Amino acid sequence: MVADWHTHSIFSDGLGTVRDNARAAAAAGLESLAVTDHGPAAATAGVWREETLLRLIKRAADAAAETGLEVLCGVEANVVGVDGQLDVSDEIYRRLDILAVGLHRGLTVSGGSGTAGDRVKNTDILVACLTRHPVDVITHPGHMFQVDLDALASAARLTGTALEVNSRHGAVAEQVLYEAAKHGVVFWCGSDAHHPRRVGDVQAGMSLARRAGLTPCMVANTKAAFESTAGENRER
Ligand SMILES: [Zn+2]
Ligand SMILES: [Zn+2]
Repeated sequence: MVADWHTHSIFSDGLGTVRDNARAAAAAGLESLAVTDHGPAAATAGVWREETLLRLIKRAADAAAETGLEVLCGVEANVVGVDGQLDVSDEIYRRLDILAVGLHRGLTVSGGSGTAGDRVKNTDILVACLTRHPVDVITHPGHMFQVDLDALASAARLTGTALEVNSRHGAVAEQVLYEAAKHGVVFWCGSDAHHPRRVGDVQAGMSLARRAGLTPCMVANTKAAFESTAGENRER
């Protein structure tokens, strides 16, 4: 594993600064880190205002200079409308490196939802989001909110969106993950670290991915995937 692209800092509900997370990532031997703080709709967990996310940019640059790592800044945005509207505007997320989107408890999606067990509607909302925004990754699909991972994987393959195998919230059955992988969708294993000591801790996600039959090349933040991508770049 060479990258962890799902961590939180004190800008939302994490306990470490961007610098703390970067130092922890360096100590864990990673080459790349992303800080993906919660969007503002997560009332007690999210950034105060969406503009706060822009402060990540300078902190990430400073942390990268100090540690020598690639430090990306992003947001784990919330869906706030049934048509896939987000709590972060295009103007803000386009200035960040990563747009992650996840369904979180306690959030109301205008136009209906809030029903964790409504698998069809939850899936529709996420698919609508993919077609509306350039989403890099759907975080912890299936956690708290049931989704049709097969349909989500099919849509995500078309939009070039990754699905996360989250290490903090397992949530996905091996067989379901195995079936979803048949669509050729890309996966990421994220720690979802809210404390620096958890940065890079993706073992639970990786072992779930392995049990589901995913190869290292199918998981974008593994060494094998990095090397195969580097090979593609050289061939261009
Ligand atoms: Zn989340
Ligand atoms: Zn998270």
